[in-house]
Amino acid sequence: MGRAFVYVILGGGVAAGYAALEFARRGGYSRGELCIISEEASQEAADLILMATHHIRLNGVLLRYTKITSMQKQNQCCFGLKRHISALRFCYFDTCFASYNFFLYSCQVAPYERPALSKGYLLPEGAARLPGFHTCVGANDELLTTKWYKEQGIELVLGTKVMSADVRRKTLLTGTGETISYKTLIIATGARALKLQEFGIQGSDASNICYLRDIDDADKLVNAMKSCPGGNAVVIGGGYIGMECAAALVTNKIRVTMVFPEKHCMGRLFTPKIAEYYENYYTSKGVTFVKGTVLTSFEKDTTGKVTAVILKDGRHLPADMVVVGIGIRANTSLFEGQLVMSMENSGIKVNGQLQTSDSSVYAVGDVAAFPIKLFDGDIRRLEHVDSARRTARHAVASILEPSKTRDIDYLPFFYSRVFTLSWQFYGDNVGEVVHFGDFTSSSPRFGAYWVNKGRIAGAFLEGGSRDEYEAISVVVRRKAKVANMAELEKQGLGFAIQE
Ligand code: FAD
Ligand code: NDP
Repeated sequence: MGRAFVYVILGGGVAAGYAALEFARRGGYSRGELCIISEEASQEAADLILMATHHIRLNGVLLRYTKITSMQKQNQCCFGLKRHISALRFCYFDTCFASYNFFLYSCQVAPYERPALSKGYLLPEGAARLPGFHTCVGANDELLTTKWYKEQGIELVLGTKVMSADVRRKTLLTGTGETISYKTLIIATGARALKLQEFGIQGSDASNICYLRDIDDADKLVNAMKSCPGGNAVVIGGGYIGMECAAALVTNKIRVTMVFPEKHCMGRLFTPKIAEYYENYYTSKGVTFVKGTVLTSFEKDTTGKVTAVILKDGRHLPADMVVVGIGIRANTSLFEGQLVMSMENSGIKVNGQLQTSDSSVYAVGDVAAFPIKLFDGDIRRLEHVDSARRTARHAVASILEPSKTRDIDYLPFFYSRVFTLSWQFYGDNVGEVVHFGDFTSSSPRFGAYWVNKGRIAGAFLEGGSRDEYEAISVVVRRKAKVANMAELEKQGLGFAIQE
């Protein structure tokens, strides 16, 4: 059993969606030549559809669609169901087989904007739901629904895990036993969340312990929040997931304690002064910080639910739910031993065209370790959405128009939004730091420059306007010269605006 494509995008996340858009824009393929293979599927949608099909059978053969659409309102995550329901309004379902096919088809998920999962998706009211945040709305571009892929002649092979890859033979073997061959492969397998088991902590599969990487995880988190209104959550990890989820939990009126090993939150990016602002802000929202320690085990009730988190220093923190954000690992395993890896970055090493050590294979997004011209060609693996979008588009340009496509010249860009706060960072956080702005206000506007060898290497800004963010990105891109640190501090944001 097998199918052959000219282009295969392996992975159905952010990078895959942007790669597909770039293919469609450039038009360098014919109908049926390009496919996306992704293992993503939504269990909650699947459960709902199972209920629906069960309902169909219970009621003889005629679909009672009204009852199902009201169920859909309660479970808004069941994207696409309404469309299927109306299509099925006059259909008769009298065999389990038809129901099963319907079930399989409907629980698959086309590429979507992953950042929505820790922000809009977790809102107590007016929460974001698919199809509203499929790629590529995050960059104010087209919304790529399954209909769009169909119209563009791009095959979506969803709910399908690739189990092994043979780079020499140019084939992929799926979990269903199908062999898919390609002429050119784009690896966009992203990353997986690190599990507590990997740090020797047992029992992290409890129903009220949540990770957050995909839509299934987000549904579990939403359900956990709903099950404990006014309750206690312990958030493990003080990075991006920890900070964004803690804010979402507070917005859902859940008391939060954050536990992490570092001296302050966002230890890899924030300076102590920047972190202090956010920690104070979170504290004012009721969040408690437990720093410099880790958890060692859980206390559970007879049903296996966690009731408390036990820390290394012996403290017991009561918990109705736990959210874990302790980092990720790039999904490289299919290609280890076949493609050159970047050991320092734990990713697949690519050149400025996003091409791997095999000229038919490209890697993009979280999984790719690529040269950053601005950092003198230093190889980095970035775990951020802007990098996923741009590397994906660049790879497609390199594939379709190799002679016209220069090496990627990427300016690293990270951002986050929590409560009413919002920050952006450009460049590299190396060198001496100069802070500027107002660190005291509840509607703040402050930032920092990182100065390396007399030039701006990185810049951070909280509460900026569009033009101000643009200005800091420009000084980083230009590696603006800094003659006097005291003067830079005095000028603050003005330095970037005047440049
Ligand atoms: P992913 O989007 O992770 O996609 C990988 C895809 O590959 C998935 O569909 C996966 O199922 C599939 N896959 C993997 N292995 C296989 C296999 N063997 N077979 C088939 N399919 C496979 N970044 C920001 O800059 N700003 C943010 O605000 C932000 N918020 C985030 C919030 C959350 C909750 C998360 C988890 C991440 C966030 N990020 C953010 C990071 C950003 O989403 C990632 O950098 C981006 O998704 C990477 O895109 P990708 O396509 O490389 O990987
Ligand atoms: P991060 O790497 O951002 O943070 C992980 C945090 O957990 C670090 O503070 C880390 O400390 C800490 N940690 C590591 N091990 C343990 C442990 N055993 N116990 C407690 N704490 C521990 O990863 P996240 O999980 O927060 O985020 C996952 C991915 O999602 C990242 O790729 C991130 O870029 C992405 N994301 C991005 C967002 C954004 O850009 N706005 C928003 C949400 C997610 P240490 O540094 O000491 O290892």
